Amino acid sequence: MDHASRDHGLNRMTELLTDEVETGEPVRQRIPVAVLGATGSVGQRFVQLLEDHPWFRLHEVVASERSAGKRYADAAQWRLETSMPSKASDLVVRSLGDELESGLIFSGLDSSVAGEAEDLYADRGAVVVSNSKNHRMDPDVPLLIPEINAEHLAAIDRQRGRRGSRGYIVTNPNCSTIGLAMAIAPLERLFGIDALHVTTMQAISGAGYAGVPSYAILDNVIPYISGEEGKIESEPLRILGKWSGGHFVDASFRISAQTNRVPTIDGHMMTIALSLRKKPEANLIDAVRRAIAEFSGEPQELALPSAPRRPLHLVDEADRPQPRLDRDRERGMSVSVGRIRPCPILDIRMVALVHNTIRGAAGAALLNAELLEARGLL
Ligand code: NAP
Repeated sequence: MDHASRDHGLNRMTELLTDEVETGEPVRQRIPVAVLGATGSVGQRFVQLLEDHPWFRLHEVVASERSAGKRYADAAQWRLETSMPSKASDLVVRSLGDELESGLIFSGLDSSVAGEAEDLYADRGAVVVSNSKNHRMDPDVPLLIPEINAEHLAAIDRQRGRRGSRGYIVTNPNCSTIGLAMAIAPLERLFGIDALHVTTMQAISGAGYAGVPSYAILDNVIPYISGEEGKIESEPLRILGKWSGGHFVDASFRISAQTNRVPTIDGHMMTIALSLRKKPEANLIDAVRRAIAEFSGEPQELALPSAPRRPLHLVDEADRPQPRLDRDRERGMSVSVGRIRPCPILDIRMVALVHNTIRGAAGAALLNAELLEARGLL
């Protein structure tokens, strides 16, 4: 991060804090935001996480024609563990394509409509922070995990030029990709990865509310999730690659992914085996454990509101991480990594767990937007 960006971020944070102290009304200073797809699985997480957000305030909610015109409380079948925020309940759901007042828009739209709608709002001048797959691999759209590849934000200038607008899109990766990319980032940085195999066990909330019928998933495991393996085999290479000479240059290791839907509600778990290009001479397992435990990035340096203190949480118990016990670490923003041990075929094996609708979706998008604000890009 350059000094000017960091200074802008810190000044902006000081401004917000100062204003809170002087007026006692921090709500007025928060940036009004819209959520597209606000009634869905990811959309509801946005609404929940925005309730007490210190920088952003939920101002508009948008969903399909099935929901438009209704009060949010009547349109959304609220399924989260906390009550629906009272300020959200009375918002009237807007139609996709409506003019919005918010300059910052979070998208949790179904991918059948996300691509066009996100382009529309970015072309109109809004900053769109998206969860959907549609624009993730565009040549000038950052696929962002702030702890790993904040320098990819340099692509925004090029994107603004293409659109002829001050608006732009930033995306977060697929929910399993986020857990995988975070768990392996310190290893790629220190040792270089040669090849990797990952098998996921993904929760049903990852399929959205209409998702997997109970009759199909109870007492069962489904060894197929449409399109998922391709995303997990390509997105980490973009994330762990570089922005150089005006385009993205992917990391060059090989990934093989197998994905399974399992009957947990939240939390995608994955087993990972990988080979490294350079092996430290001293104990490899200790070096890998240290690299994971010490992993940190710009969100921690800037103390962004949604940043976990430790983005990777090393778990020592032989039978952890587990979705029910570990998914909520640091409000669902920390990825748990455990069972780090030698692999008889590759070099290392381990288990990682990510909360799919928080660090894997809405929480990740909020952290992305906080980084944009801290860098003066909103
Ligand atoms: P979901 O529960 O099915 O919600 C989809 C949302 O899109 C709903 O608000 C729905 O509104 C809206 N929508 C559907 N068709 C529409 C249309 N024609 N016009 C306007 N709005 C429309 O899906 P989800 O699981 O939240 O996923 C949302 C996006 O995030 C997807 O692209 C998904 O791939 C991605 N994602 C999901 C996860 C996860 O863990 N669930 C993680 C990462 C990324 P109505 O309620 O009015 O139909």
